[in-house]
Amino acid sequence: RVWNFSAGPAAMPQAVLERAQRELLDWNGSGASVMEQSHRGKRFIDMAAQAEADLRTLLAIPADYAVLFLQGGATQQFAQIPMNLAAEGDCADYIVSGHWSEKAVSEAAPYVRVNVAASGRADDYLRLPPRDGWRLDARAAYVHYTPNETIHGVEFHDIPEVGAVPLVADMSSNILSGPLDISRFGLIYAGAQKNIGPSGLVVMIVRRDLLQRAGRPMARIFRYAEQAANDSMLNTPNTWGWYLAGLTFQWLLAQGGLTAMAEHNRAKADLLYRTIDGSGGYYRNPIELSARSRMNVPFTLHDKALDVVFLEESEAAGLLALKGHKALGGMRASLYNAVPLDAVQALAAFMRDFAQRHG
Ligand code: PLP
Repeated sequence: RVWNFSAGPAAMPQAVLERAQRELLDWNGSGASVMEQSHRGKRFIDMAAQAEADLRTLLAIPADYAVLFLQGGATQQFAQIPMNLAAEGDCADYIVSGHWSEKAVSEAAPYVRVNVAASGRADDYLRLPPRDGWRLDARAAYVHYTPNETIHGVEFHDIPEVGAVPLVADMSSNILSGPLDISRFGLIYAGAQKNIGPSGLVVMIVRRDLLQRAGRPMARIFRYAEQAANDSMLNTPNTWGWYLAGLTFQWLLAQGGLTAMAEHNRAKADLLYRTIDGSGGYYRNPIELSARSRMNVPFTLHDKALDVVFLEESEAAGLLALKGHKALGGMRASLYNAVPLDAVQALAAFMRDFAQRHG
């Protein structure tokens, strides 16, 4: 297989895919695939409970937090969060640090009075909005932020202090990349397609007292409290996604858990940034050093005319999906958990060689 640097849907651990392949036709001694059986059956329910238990172990999730396995992608949660956490007329604070937090604002706006408490837009999202400029509202229903901006490649390396207001985080592109103090958050959500499994599944970790907040009328399917009371099986869940997420959690435990993943991710990101910064300006990543993402590394070549050649040659060398997002152009390498150090070493060697040949 190729080295895959896709931003998402992204590379999955080879061992997880191999196990899924082995079990595809006969899962768990059932004689059928996991996709072909009832989510109400004991086999599936046991698997689902084990996946939750393994996630709880990985992240040391306290008992007063519920774990939900939802559908509709992270985008649906942009709307469902205000529906559930804000009453009619409430305001909510949003920290805007790139494309995805902008999206969170626009999708939330029909359901809550959005206060953009800070924005990095004037800085072209090259750094995080400076903390001393945040205008948080103590009456806000919650504070929403995006700890890792997948497109702009900026990441918070600490958890912002927001007082008693619940902190809500879109961790789609950095969940499980290292240990996390869950107790600092009111709600964490993540689309699965980067560090967890296939797209369409959303993993949510939510403090149980917040489940009781939603006062406004809405369909049961949208209400977190109903999902929690029904073990995320109010309707037919994404059984295949849940199963693969469970395999990924087992794989992470076998790798030594999230402390080991953090070291692994740090080594990969350091190598790639060293290659860019040490290229004498041939490659460039413009993000302020303290805000550089360990997961998504956008970079440009000194001459845009070489972009097409770089992409053709990298693909021919087995380095897949390095094309940058259309909003920024250039290149982007995503270094999620499943990307091994060998892949980044191959990329770094390719980049040095390319610079020499096309200098
Ligand atoms: N939030 C972040 C940080 C993302 O990177 C993405 C992209 O996948 C999304 C939200 C949107 O996720 P989905 O496509 O699952 O709605």
